[in-house]
Amino acid sequence: MPVYEFYCKDCKKEFEVKMRLAQYEKSKNKQKCLECDSKNVQQMISAFEVKTSRKS
Ligand SMILES: [Zn+2]
Repeated sequence: MPVYEFYCKDCKKEFEVKMRLAQYEKSKNKQKCLECDSKNVQQMISAFEVKTSRKS
């Protein structure tokens, strides 16, 4: 199962959520922080995605 990384802007913690792709598509925009239950979270860009987007 893939792991998605999120960052909470309220408590400034990173956390990982394991979920299936279908579940991710449903909940990626309403993921809550696991620490403080805030909705003020953003998804971290994975290292894999950074690697594949090259500057020419
Ligand atoms: Zn939080």
